[in-house]
Amino acid sequence: MIDIILNKGKEKAVLQKHPWVFSGALAQIKGKPANGDLVKVFDTKNTFLAYGYYNAESRVAVRLLSWDENEIPDENWWRMRLQNAVNARQSLLTKETNTCRLIFSESDYLPGLIADKYGDYLSLQVLTSGIENIKPIILDELQKLTGAKGIFDKSDEKARAHDGLQETEGLLWGSLPPDFVEVKENGIKYHINIREGQKSGFYCDQRDNRKFLATYVKEKKVLDCFSYSGGFGLNALKAGASKVVSVDSSALAIDTLRKNIELNKFDQSKSEAIQNDVNKQLRLFKEQEEKFDIVILDPPKYAPSRSALVKASRAYKDLNRLGMSVLERGGLLATFSCSGAVDIDTFKQIIAWAALDAGKEVQIIHQFSQPEDHPIRISFPEGEYLKGLLCRVY
Ligand code: SAH
Repeated sequence: MIDIILNKGKEKAVLQKHPWVFSGALAQIKGKPANGDLVKVFDTKNTFLAYGYYNAESRVAVRLLSWDENEIPDENWWRMRLQNAVNARQSLLTKETNTCRLIFSESDYLPGLIADKYGDYLSLQVLTSGIENIKPIILDELQKLTGAKGIFDKSDEKARAHDGLQETEGLLWGSLPPDFVEVKENGIKYHINIREGQKSGFYCDQRDNRKFLATYVKEKKVLDCFSYSGGFGLNALKAGASKVVSVDSSALAIDTLRKNIELNKFDQSKSEAIQNDVNKQLRLFKEQEEKFDIVILDPPKYAPSRSALVKASRAYKDLNRLGMSVLERGGLLATFSCSGAVDIDTFKQIIAWAALDAGKEVQIIHQFSQPEDHPIRISFPEGEYLKGLLCRVY
């Protein structure tokens, strides 16, 4: 195993158990590790700090795995980590829910690996060469732990490119999932297209928030913006909303949503699905003076990095101002951001600006976060990305 010495002072973050070592922190590499190779990291005084895997192409040159010199990340080590993560989800998987995230990368001590369960199928994202190297172990262990019928690769090509990896997609193990896999969440059925769907096919990070919000919807008229396959709206219909209007720009999303309404035998007359840009649709509703009791705003990631923060803040503000303008007086706005770069305080500030612009008064009555299958590792704040506010708007 090749040794790497860090620049003076760069051991601090490692000692705080942050799992990333940036390329600028490396003082010396004692050899030529290949991408994905295990390395041993030392400080300037040659004190052992941690084991990790190396990548010459990535901004994150070493992803750290173990801080104990006696705990070498061998096959057994990987299998243990996989077992810990999968077993921690057992209580989540019930009669009501058979889909969740099984492995959440750094936050589950498995940097570069994401695994989602969709009923009998697993979708995997292999985002680094370190994980690519141990793929056979991962597939074998996951199959043993879950009894999955098939494991499908759904890696994000941009993330793989950062690590110098080729794009991949396809069957990794077992049988190919059918075009539509049926899953259940909060007792609601969904058709998921693992192969074509966005991200990994379903946004299971909103499971708890959908359920929580549903407690407010009885006999209310709900607008679900950025609906995707209907997550929030379907929970609202189940909980007795009088009407749910869903808006998404993707034809596949709207089509899947309509299928999901049928699948659950919900009253179709209570659901309207509109394929349009949300900002345009909100302006249209405003012009037509159409109002809602509850407005949900769950946009895609507007700030992929800190450098995009200013532009993203403006986009969040404009969206929320419009969202507020179509609410009945005293109505509820459930507004989310899945940008890691926007923390909860910044998000509250943005909502405050939106309220001022819209000429509204806002009370926060609840804060949303990410569910337990998207844990927040205390030494890795970057893993905290989903936040939301439930606001009463006057
Ligand atoms: N609320 C959803 C997840 C939203 S993901 C759920 O509970 O599952 C974000 C969605 O926004 C995607 O479906 C994407 O198609 C849609 N989208 C992105 N930009 C959009 C835009 N400008 N107008 C409308 N929809 C948009």
